Amino acid sequence: MAEQSLRPIPENLKFWFSRPSSADGKTKLFEVAKSLSRGQHVPMAKTQATIPLFLPHRGCPGRCVFCSQRASGGRETSTASRELSGRIEQYLMTIDSRLPRIEAAFFGGNFTGLPSAEQENLLNAALPFLESGRIHGIRVSTRPDFIDPANALLLKNHGVDIVELGVQSLSDEVLTRARRGHGTAEVYRAVDILKAAHIKIILQIMAGLPGDTRDLSAATAVEAAALCPDGARIFPTVVLRGTELERLYRAGEYKPLTLDEAVEICADMRQVFTQKDIPVIRTGLHPLRNPGDEIIAGPYHPAFGFLVKARLRRREMEEVLKEELPGNHDIPAAEFMLPREKSEEYIGNGRENIRYLKEKYRLARLDIILKEGAAPSVRSLAI
Ligand code: SF4
Repeated sequence: MAEQSLRPIPENLKFWFSRPSSADGKTKLFEVAKSLSRGQHVPMAKTQATIPLFLPHRGCPGRCVFCSQRASGGRETSTASRELSGRIEQYLMTIDSRLPRIEAAFFGGNFTGLPSAEQENLLNAALPFLESGRIHGIRVSTRPDFIDPANALLLKNHGVDIVELGVQSLSDEVLTRARRGHGTAEVYRAVDILKAAHIKIILQIMAGLPGDTRDLSAATAVEAAALCPDGARIFPTVVLRGTELERLYRAGEYKPLTLDEAVEICADMRQVFTQKDIPVIRTGLHPLRNPGDEIIAGPYHPAFGFLVKARLRRREMEEVLKEELPGNHDIPAAEFMLPREKSEEYIGNGRENIRYLKEKYRLARLDIILKEGAAPSVRSLAI
């Protein structure tokens, strides 16, 4: 199932749909109104677009045990200014210029590990697009131990408004075993420096690294959320071809999480951020081009983020079930009222949440009623 689910159009995005979108001048609003009147849903409007500028392993001081940027199959970006500008220009031709945010994103390596002149060169290629208003921001991915006040200033002065920090874990033991080459102190320091430079921060954290446990992953999420970042990405560790983790796995020294364990742990982590209103911009790896070739073992799923959201919905349904039917674990059947707009998440992949609740609570039947905006509620049924 695709991660992007069908949702009603939020009020603040309706105007995008009111603009002419077809050659004959008809508006999408008409189609949307028709869908809504039929009780159907329309895809969530896109609010931002990213121009990916992939710099695999550039600026990395070593190789972290889990990492293979080449597995993503992205096209490496030329660092020649003219080609870089051409690439941004090419992307812009495919992007709706009315989107609220269009950003150029340098990722796949350790941006601030590059020589300063090279960083400037790369950013200067994107800067004219920012100054002319054709893009609205520049994002770079980097390591905490390569952030200092001087390079934070360089980033700020060249239009970078978001830094993605590869934190991975806030356990020193896990960082050591991942061969990150830095500890937790560098993370706290980098966050302070970036905040002082008024640069937004996205923290990337992982579950299932060597030495990691469910409790350590949860503690990482709690500590990362306490740093009040502007967003987070959560990845389960998978064993990619050509990595040190592959060697450890083949030697029997590393056991990856199962898919179900990874979903449980990442659901715990996601919940920590959402409870603090910190957006989780992605849960799970980006879909790989050749997962069959690149993945040796581990909890890879192309719709991992959806599985995590569905697990959180299942927990919510279970709470409701326990609260509203207290002490009555032998009811023959029940009816669950669910919000129509989130029904896919509540029902789960292949109706797995319904199956799980039926089995666990020994229900002969669990009927689902969908209603726009309904809070989940349950009542027992006579059969
Ligand atoms: S995780 Fe980041 S720092 Fe480590 S090898 Fe990969 S790109 Fe480089």
